[in-house]
Amino acid sequence: MNKSVAFFGLGHMGGPMSANLIKAGFNVTGFDPVKELLNLAAEHGVKKSASPLETITGADFVLSMLPNGEDVEALYIDDEKLLDHINRKTLVIDCSTVAASSSRRLITEARKRGLRAIEAPVSGGVAGAVAGTLSFMCGGEAADVDAARQLLQHMGSNVFHAGSAGAGQTAKMCNNMLLAVHMIGTAEALQLGVDNGLDPKVLSEIMLKSSGANWSLEKYNPYPGVMENVPASNNYEGGFMVKLMCKDLGLAQQAATASKTYTPLGSLARNLYGLHLMAGNEKLDFSSIQRIFGRTN
Ligand code: NAD
Repeated sequence: MNKSVAFFGLGHMGGPMSANLIKAGFNVTGFDPVKELLNLAAEHGVKKSASPLETITGADFVLSMLPNGEDVEALYIDDEKLLDHINRKTLVIDCSTVAASSSRRLITEARKRGLRAIEAPVSGGVAGAVAGTLSFMCGGEAADVDAARQLLQHMGSNVFHAGSAGAGQTAKMCNNMLLAVHMIGTAEALQLGVDNGLDPKVLSEIMLKSSGANWSLEKYNPYPGVMENVPASNNYEGGFMVKLMCKDLGLAQQAATASKTYTPLGSLARNLYGLHLMAGNEKLDFSSIQRIFGRTN
């Protein structure tokens, strides 16, 4: 019999991830408080659910892809108290990007109830979610991560086991701090070239084959019109919202303070993204940081 998945959070990432599970033959029941997203997921074959409790009925896996740690802790522990209702055979997989402490709390509370849970934050963006090529950075027991592979492999190309509870989130936090830094650097270099007479497409081609090459340039060019099918060529709509990048950069700075690590570029990136957010851009894709350098509106 096909395995069943309860899927929470059908947004930019959860929508295409759940569609890939349907394609792989899983029975997916989805829940999102936003009705339009539920209807959109239903078009891909996701069964609509009216409540969190109804969603988990008979599930082999419970998977969540929520905005932040408060949402995750509210769903599983504090408000909906899902952990008190999940069957012991079920594996809980939280793919949201949250603080390592939130993941540790989720996994510890699950274990107290005899349940298995792991964190599995992702990298690869909406394009990776659509293509099923995400990288998962798991934290938790090795046996539980191995059990999750049968599901995760249908949404991603890489499933890493970073270590015990919280380690996956630590890896994700480091990755996203670096992503923010090279996105800002890429945007600033492109603007410098344009302001000095270069075509941003030509400059991008040159830098891609030179020592400035990086993921932002290769997969997610922030300059409008250089690359098709990226948010920059769609008024910075879709993708990874500025407010979520600000959350991740905040997590990185909290961790840096706690571990007494100096992260000057991470700190600057957080401030630049914070000012960009305060200027009314919280829902735009994070590559819209290009706009702070001017002349591309
Ligand atoms: P999103 O805001 O588009 O989607 C999150 C969805 O969760 C929303 O539709 C929201 O209504 C829903 N939600 C909130 N509380 C819920 C609950 N209790 N039950 C069910 N649904 C609930 O955000 P996204 O871009 O899909 O990102 C989701 C997570 O993935 C975030 O933690 C983000 O940091 C991370 N992430 C995003 C990207 C990206 O490129 N967008 C890439 C990697 C990681």
